[in-house]
Amino acid sequence: MIDCHAHLEQDDYNKDRQKVVDGLKKKMKAVITCCADPKDWERTKEIVEKNKGFVFATMGVHPEFIKDIPIEDIRAFFDVIRKEAKAGNIVGIGEQGLDYHWVKEFIFRDKQKELFMKFIDLSKELDLPAIIHSRDATLECVVILEERGMKGRKVLLHLFGDHKLVPRIIANGWYVSVGPGIQRSKGIRKLVRDLPLSQIVLETDSPWFGEEGERGTPLNTFKAAEKIAEIKKISIEEVEKQTDKNAIAFYGLKLKSK
Ligand SMILES: [Zn+2]
Repeated sequence: MIDCHAHLEQDDYNKDRQKVVDGLKKKMKAVITCCADPKDWERTKEIVEKNKGFVFATMGVHPEFIKDIPIEDIRAFFDVIRKEAKAGNIVGIGEQGLDYHWVKEFIFRDKQKELFMKFIDLSKELDLPAIIHSRDATLECVVILEERGMKGRKVLLHLFGDHKLVPRIIANGWYVSVGPGIQRSKGIRKLVRDLPLSQIVLETDSPWFGEEGERGTPLNTFKAAEKIAEIKKISIEEVEKQTDKNAIAFYGLKLKSK
């Protein structure tokens, strides 16, 4: 299985990070770790270098951080992203998007939108997939992506449960990454019911979404796959095979053969 969205750089893994990754290598094909804060890039890069062909990175700025990270720092980070992309060190741009759950003030929401559009343009400039965070702003995100020319381009909606938007996702040829949250969310279950498996990949958003407040790991992709299999009335192996294929094509992964 492939976890298309995790955060291995988080402090939660400081004590045993490499041990965790070594354990994952025995059971999974790959993990995509999403650097969502400029301060996390050095550590992320280190994890990727130590685990070449298994851990892959994306780079972005989580929309929630709009209040805390000065615009000059974000501008400087764009140049770092360009450099790493040209060196072939990243497989996507994100997280990028909007977060209306944690950010309620209009002034900051406007700033999020401005930054989101810059990130969309950067994804196009570098010809890399866009990984979208859209908490409580699903429709706004979809509209901005469509208007900004992302129809038919590589877009991955992460932690997405707005099943009413499935027809547009299908028409636009985008992907949705489904995590263990499917166990609790009716919206995600309906989305999985209506979206073809060819447009679904797996994710965990680890270290979040662990069982009962425990630290999560990319192994939780298995929980998501189990539920998808149940809804689609197919075997877990079929879910694994198709979502792996989708993830490899979406991110253009060059896996290390075992
Ligand atoms: Zn995330």
